[in-house]
Amino acid sequence: MENLLTVDGLTFEPYITNDQIQEQVRRVASEIRTDLKGRAPLFICVLNGAFMFAADLFREIGINDSKITFVRYSSYEGTGSTGSVKVLMGLNEDIEGRDVVIVEDIVDTGLTASMMVTDLRKRNPRSIRFATLLHKPESSRTGFKPDYVAFDIPSKFIIGYGLDLDGKARNLKDIYVIKES
Ligand code: 5GP
Repeated sequence: MENLLTVDGLTFEPYITNDQIQEQVRRVASEIRTDLKGRAPLFICVLNGAFMFAADLFREIGINDSKITFVRYSSYEGTGSTGSVKVLMGLNEDIEGRDVVIVEDIVDTGLTASMMVTDLRKRNPRSIRFATLLHKPESSRTGFKPDYVAFDIPSKFIIGYGLDLDGKARNLKDIYVIKES
């Protein structure tokens, strides 16, 4: 029988296992390692949702001179995008001349991603790359294309492995998708 899960009255079903996640983390890590060979990149983890992916990816990439920092934005309420992006915690580091890799949990409309990249470009980094655990290409309102994607998924609401429903379910090792009735 399927392992259904209920959070705040909504039903979710298993979607991507932790083993599948780790396999794609290794693939994306190897792509980033190859592209940034000989460099000391700064990883920018977008809180809160990307904390688990960023931790696994950062360890797996294993570039000893690399650094990680954290920013926080907000655009979601419940299970839908509000359409506007709030900066809750900005970037303190000087990124001029540096190779930057943004690490996100999910690119949905692409609003957060394109806003971040536009903002960071003004600070004259050497390069900006964008890595995301999940990408919903059908939801794009911006045409934003991430450089590294662990999984392309349809436009359905998901939770687990860092992703939440109003703060809950981030602890789940696997990813779950909302069950359509
Ligand atoms: P965007 O700006 O691309 O519309 O949205 C990006 C943010 O929306 C993500 O960082 C994430 O916080 C939230 N988000 C988008 N889709 C989902 C989803 O399916 N599940 C969860 N939990 N959050 C999502």
